[in-house]
Order: sequence, then C-alpha cells, then structure tokens
Amino acid sequence: MPLEPFFPAGHIEVVCGPMFSGKSEELIRRVTRALIAKQDVRVFKPGLDDRYHATNVASHAGRTATAIPVQGTNEVRIHLGLEPQPALFGLENPDALEIKLPDVVAFDEAQFFDAGLVPLALQLARAGVRVICGGLDLDFRAEPFGVMPELLARAEHVEKLTAICVICGAPATRTQRLVNDLPARYDDPVIMVGASESYEPRCAQHHSVPR
Ligand code: ADP
Repeated sequence: MPLEPFFPAGHIEVVCGPMFSGKSEELIRRVTRALIAKQDVRVFKPGLDDRYHATNVASHAGRTATAIPVQGTNEVRIHLGLEPQPALFGLENPDALEIKLPDVVAFDEAQFFDAGLVPLALQLARAGVRVICGGLDLDFRAEPFGVMPELLARAEHVEKLTAICVICGAPATRTQRLVNDLPARYDDPVIMVGASESYEPRCAQHHSVPR
C-alpha cells in the first residue's frame, strides 16, 4: 500500500492486529522502503520483548530490521536528543526543537510502551517525523491493549490486519492465550511460574476467555 505519497512527512501510522497477523512484516516492509529512499530511520522496541534477537525486529517468517531496545519512552527521548519529559501534554512547540530528528521513527510492540508514547508520537509528528507504530490492539482478553486505543484514535493512518484462525481458517482478529494447552482464564496472572504458555490467532467465535 503506497503510503509515502499521500501524507505530509509529519504524521502517525498504526499497524495493529492479533499475533501472527503480519504487523512485524508490515513494519519491516515500511522501514525497508524508507531505507531504500535513503531516509534516516530509527526503530525502537521494548527491551522486555527479546523474541529471536535483542537488537532486531523479527517477523515470524524470519525477516528482520535493526531495532534499538529501550526500557521506556524516556530512553527514546534521550536517544533522539529530546528533553526527557514533554513540557505539557500537547503544548510543545516543534519550532523550538533545534535538534536533527530522523525522517522516520518506528515503534515495534507499541502496546508494551508506557503512556508517554502518545505525547512523544504527537511531538515527533508535529516536528515533521513519520511515526510508525506496530502493536497488538487487543490483549488476550480481547480488551484494548495499553496505549494502543489512544494511538489508534490519534493516528492519521490505521491498518488493522488479520491472521488466520487456527480453528476454522476464518480471518482472526484476536489472540488466544493458552496455559497448559487450555484457554487462559480472565484473571490468570500475566506470568505463571511453571506453566507452559502459548498464543494463537483466532476469530471471535473461537476465542475463549473463561471467567
Ligand atoms: P505479528 O508481528 O503480527 O505477530 P509477523 O509479521 O511476525 O506477525 O508474522 C506473520 C507471519 O506469520 C505470516 O506471514 C505467516 O507466515 C506466519 N503465520 C503463522 N501462523 C499464522 C496464522 N495462523 N495466520 C497468519 N499467519 C501465520
């Protein structure tokens, strides 16, 4: 999808969907195209997600892009040379920025970033940066995930991808969490010591969250 010609440089794009829907593939595709266009691109990912490689964004199909692991948005701000904290939500003046920002700033696994991602993305977009955020729109309970709802609302462009439901082959919009091969309960802790845990894409009909 040719996003490049349609939007002015400063804007926010979000790529969302369940696990295995191709979010990382799409983020890597956009980043690769920007690099081919000789743009300055920076990709950040949360330090806690070390799927396959500590300094890469990796798709399930094996494609990669170089990424900088960070603990939170303050670390991103420092990396980009911005003040550690935005002055006031929505009130920063991009003209006052005298630093050279990248052309493109991408965030992989955006759902794991802190609430500072929204003001940071807005500030970057206002300063002329193309901001690309990839992340899960829904958690395993099929409830809006972290900062994603607000990012989605504020983005200029949103792409909601689907995976394939492993039960019936229909488009999958949700991520099924399994604990010891059974659907995780609504209140199951995020980390379950000693349990085998897995995730699979499913359609709404085959998604189950026992209470
Ligand atoms: P995401 O970042 O959304 O988790 P990835 O980009 O890492 O997704 O991986 C998408 C790839 O996963 C697909 O191109 C396909 O090769 C593979 N895949 C494996 N299982 C499924 C599935 N059930 N539905 C869709 N894609 C799947």
